[in-house]
Amino acid sequence: MPELPEVETIRTRLAPRLEGRRLERVEIVDPRLTRPEPPEAIAAALEGERIVRVSRRGKYLVFEFESGRSLLVHLRMTGNVEHPAQGGLAADPYRRAVVRLDDGSDVAYRDVRRFGTWDLLEPGELEDYFAVRRLGEEPLERGFTTRALTQALEGRRAPIKAALLDQRAAAGVGNIYADEALWRARLHPLRPAGSLTAGEIARLRKAIRAALEMGIARQGATLRDYRDPEGRRGRMQDEFNVYGRAGEPCPRCGTPIEKTRAGGRGTWFCPHCQRLDPR
Ligand SMILES: [Zn+2]
Repeated sequence: MPELPEVETIRTRLAPRLEGRRLERVEIVDPRLTRPEPPEAIAAALEGERIVRVSRRGKYLVFEFESGRSLLVHLRMTGNVEHPAQGGLAADPYRRAVVRLDDGSDVAYRDVRRFGTWDLLEPGELEDYFAVRRLGEEPLERGFTTRALTQALEGRRAPIKAALLDQRAAAGVGNIYADEALWRARLHPLRPAGSLTAGEIARLRKAIRAALEMGIARQGATLRDYRDPEGRRGRMQDEFNVYGRAGEPCPRCGTPIEKTRAGGRGTWFCPHCQRLDPR
């Protein structure tokens, strides 16, 4: 599932090629993408819009238009945006939408599992949209302070891993980068979020940033479906310290990595470096 580093990699690739371009023709073939809005209505509304900025909020790709509207794309499990450097698009049974730009190139949206969403917002609706979804601070921006993270975790009995997954503490962190950040911070994933000390929260904040920055530097992680818009795989999967590595040695202490469940998701940690009952 694409997380902040994967979505940011897509954004970085798309922005210089899409900003300033006009959407000439839009075809949405999967009605699930725009539900409950009919796909033809969204397609018609998008045609003629000019992209002024491609941005990102958490795991959302945000296409901001000259009109003040914005299209929010969430890739969910297997969504992917394709914009080949040259040549047209190859045939693809999982293609859900195609946008023809005014430079003659096509941007395609592909989604095998079909959980991805496209939401078209009117001018001024963006802030409310994210507020309703209780999206937390952008972890790579200045607002993600130890104080902000402390407030987001205060009084919460949920395991810290689950708290990181629900987007309120830090927008864009998912299963992979939560496990990697907790390992870096030497925090057990099942520790109650509200039980972390000031020092531990400071460590966690730094660890979240470091894990995400590493993911961006490696252009994201390709476990199955994720590709950048030109079809290239990420390389972060070669850098995992704990994620998916049950039984392999912890890179820090050599203890075999263990797997548990937290927040309904497979969760990997080092039982030596990440104690449930820290001294
Ligand atoms: Zn260890």
